[in-house]
Amino acid sequence: MSTSAQPLQPATDPADDITEAFGGAANVAHLRHVARDFRTDTITMPTDAQVAYAARASRGDDVEGEDASTTALEDRIARLAGKEAALLCLSATMCNALAVRSHLAQPPHSVIVDARSHTFKNEAGGAALFSQATSHALTPKNGLYLVREDIEPELQLGYDVHTAPTRLIMLEDTINGVVVPPAEVARIADMAGEHGILLHVDGARVWNSAAAAIEAQGGVHDDAGLGAALAEILKPYHTASLCLSKGLGAPLGSALVGDKRLIDRARWFRKAFGGAWRQSGQMAAQADWALTHHFPRLVNTHKLARRLADELQAAGCSILAPVDTNMVFFDAAPLGLSFDRVKAALAALDEPITLGSNRLVVHHQTSPQAVADLVETIRTLAGSVSEEEKARVRSQKPAALGYR
Ligand SMILES: *Cc1c(COP(=O)(O)O)cnc(C)c1O
Repeated sequence: MSTSAQPLQPATDPADDITEAFGGAANVAHLRHVARDFRTDTITMPTDAQVAYAARASRGDDVEGEDASTTALEDRIARLAGKEAALLCLSATMCNALAVRSHLAQPPHSVIVDARSHTFKNEAGGAALFSQATSHALTPKNGLYLVREDIEPELQLGYDVHTAPTRLIMLEDTINGVVVPPAEVARIADMAGEHGILLHVDGARVWNSAAAAIEAQGGVHDDAGLGAALAEILKPYHTASLCLSKGLGAPLGSALVGDKRLIDRARWFRKAFGGAWRQSGQMAAQADWALTHHFPRLVNTHKLARRLADELQAAGCSILAPVDTNMVFFDAAPLGLSFDRVKAALAALDEPITLGSNRLVVHHQTSPQAVADLVETIRTLAGSVSEEEKARVRSQKPAALGYR
């Protein structure tokens, strides 16, 4: 499948280049909500151009290895990631489960995870369910991401019969929107290598890390720039899962990347999990389109997220983590506002704004107007809080990073 279409240039203002069509009035109306929805970046809508591109995709049977569009996408992602092979799957949850299952052989065994990570908190206990693995959950001392000093004392090594030996370390990048510094990953990888422990990254949003790295280096957001940045980030890892349906805006799909032997094994388990798919070409093509046309827009979602964070801070909110990419964790308690109060006020606007938690996620279809309205609503609310209410809210448990 050809990927020769020119990438869009990043818009001067985030989201102001949404001129595409969306398959009729109902979807256009829905897009108005998507543009004002800060729950997550999975809600992005495929564009007509994306769907039209998919209509020209191959229609072979991928279980037989006969779908050209799927194979082309896997090859493209493997190349971008600097790995030998890629496997397209339904979801990032499936990619993580397949990675754990493919890396581990015979229990007892354990996996080290960040206690706030998606794999630990939000994947229905998959490591235990599919791989009989104990999850050994650690909380980073720096409050942001795990470093070697968090992990090393916790490794379970040797043949002590009381332990489930550590076989795998799973990191997450970005985690809570924060880019994990490559130097810290390198130090973890060195340590893991000394003990023969494998390293996987849940890179659902590692595209955002790559976009941030390209921006920091003044690079170009095309395949060459992305390939250089992504391969560098993923070099220390044996495997990575890369989500296509979050910020990139494919309707579904994630890719697992790694060496060929591991990916062959994962392909086998994918079949056993019931995840082998037949005429997958149109889904692959939509993801292929997203890589070409939507990846270059991530950098602007980051700018919009930073604008949101700056304006919230100026309004008196605290911001709980560095805004490296597209997420803003905020707390309005310094203003005497509870999260529920803020959420309800935004939901009651003439054009409602949707929040899920104190995690605000910006995506490539978020409207700058929604950002402005969100901040304005908080400013207005803050002007009408009684001293009594302020004291009550400030005495409550502080907001935190991570999944609820
Ligand atoms: C969303 C997400 C996943 C799972 O993605 P699905 O495709 O919904 O299964 C995994 N890890 C992280 C960090 C995520 O944000």
